[in-house]
Amino acid sequence: MIDAQTLDVPAGTTTMQTARRWVPGACVWCGDDVAVEMYRNEPRCGTCRENEEIIEGARRFLGMYGLRPLGGTLQSDDEEEREWRVTARDARAALNQTKLASPPDPALVRKALRPRAAAVVAETVVASRASTATGSATRAAATARTTRSAAGQAAVSSDAVDLDEIQARGLALLDQMSSVDAQLAQVADQSGLAARARRSDLEKQKATIMRTLGALEKARQSAQR
Ligand SMILES: [Zn+2]
Repeated sequence: MIDAQTLDVPAGTTTMQTARRWVPGACVWCGDDVAVEMYRNEPRCGTCRENEEIIEGARRFLGMYGLRPLGGTLQSDDEEEREWRVTARDARAALNQTKLASPPDPALVRKALRPRAAAVVAETVVASRASTATGSATRAAATARTTRSAAGQAAVSSDAVDLDEIQARGLALLDQMSSVDAQLAQVADQSGLAARARRSDLEKQKATIMRTLGALEKARQSAQR
């Protein structure tokens, strides 16, 4: 006869995920590299983003009607509420299942992201000899616009004005990003609802900046053609 003890799988071998490691460019949650995009300030794969969105949708729905938050029982007043709770629970389970055994160091993730954002702007800044001091970057870009020199010829085309505009906006965005980063660092170690709300707000701002940088880069490429 088999007793219950022998059926127990020893802790640590219950998942096959221990071997998966995060690498730059992969989803910070599960390490997958399919359809990775920024989501709440983190690179996340398509599957993860979908699940997060389901949970977010459920949160919004429950919040909108002042219903009990997610978690705990699935007990619901009607079918729609129940459906949200069930799909959110399944999404959460899926996320828990794919979670990396050891999440990447946030500092490493940031480092992997920064060059990408910086590269976008660096390419648009060929003409500029802007100082790298963050505070003066915007002003420097404005100066660069009026004193564009021969050194900048690589970036100069018939649409030079557009490019300058794009460059100035890119630099301003990087300034903004530094400021958001600084504020994030300030609340990083704080707990409590207010700090969490602040963090989430800052992370949203950062995601917006990243998206705008991406859009700028597209604009820059088409302006150069
Ligand atoms: Zn993922």
